[in-house]
Amino acid sequence: LPPTTKQPKRIVTPPGPTARALAARDEQGISHSFVRDYPQAIHSGKGCIVTDVDGNEYIDYCLGYGPLIFGHSPKDIVQAVVEQISTRGYHFSFPHELDYKVGEAVQRLVPSVDLIRFTCSGTESTMAAIRLARAYTGKDNINKFKGDYHGWSDLHYVSYHPALTMAAGRHNAPRGLPDSTGMPQAFVDQLIIQPFNDLEVIEKTIRERHFEIAAVLIEPTLANCGVIPPVEGYLEGLRKITEQYGVLLIFDEVMTGFRIAAGGAQEYYNIKPDISTFAKVLGGGFPAACFGGTKEVMEIEAKN
Ligand code: PLP
Repeated sequence: LPPTTKQPKRIVTPPGPTARALAARDEQGISHSFVRDYPQAIHSGKGCIVTDVDGNEYIDYCLGYGPLIFGHSPKDIVQAVVEQISTRGYHFSFPHELDYKVGEAVQRLVPSVDLIRFTCSGTESTMAAIRLARAYTGKDNINKFKGDYHGWSDLHYVSYHPALTMAAGRHNAPRGLPDSTGMPQAFVDQLIIQPFNDLEVIEKTIRERHFEIAAVLIEPTLANCGVIPPVEGYLEGLRKITEQYGVLLIFDEVMTGFRIAAGGAQEYYNIKPDISTFAKVLGGGFPAACFGGTKEVMEIEAKN
């Protein structure tokens, strides 16, 4: 897309009167997550510009946390969606012709994906990937990395933003800390937290505890605590150890999928995980997501 030359318009100093009135209603019952600063309430978006309820414009660097790579309301996509839902409907409890079209495109693009299954969000995809890894290996525990985000389920919402204190453990022995109250300790205990980019630490963990570890779950480039790429040889090393010890490798490509290369981080780094998860760009802002993997692993899913 060409860069914008348009200057965003400023009508009132934000938050304007309409935004303030809406914010006052928050206290009576709406709780928003994450982005709570200006703009307080959006009216509309076009391209890279969003307009708030008082008419102020902003350049949107967030773009739905990644899915809107064509910006807001891209004409061709809006037309295609309107055409689909107005002439063919929008919710079915049966396989749909488009499942095959989209599914085959994912298979074509992503090197490790032989079979896929659709879900509605990245969180669901990573939950399903964990269940599948447990079913395939007969083991329960999952290696997860400090700073990785895989969604807000109790299954993995641990040590995403851990406290910068000794409560989070030492570098080579991080302690899992829940990212929300209300999470049973039993869920936290099923995750073995690891430092990213330290092959020696994870090698030792897997060597000593592989009999209880179903999978290593990783964002192949950390993208939820700034952007931290893997150091040279790290993903290759992980692939090697996991294969050696019968532990599955799950790439959470919700951020990286169809972004850093058409086939995601696995194409870019030339590593084939056993299971991969996708969302965001797959649906372009609509709730479409999937997980997929090798035929051998995914066949268990097909039987479930
Ligand atoms: N995995 C990663 C790497 C993510 O960045 C996110 C969301 O930002 C998720 C999983 C969860 O996806 P969703 O918000 O669609 O549930």
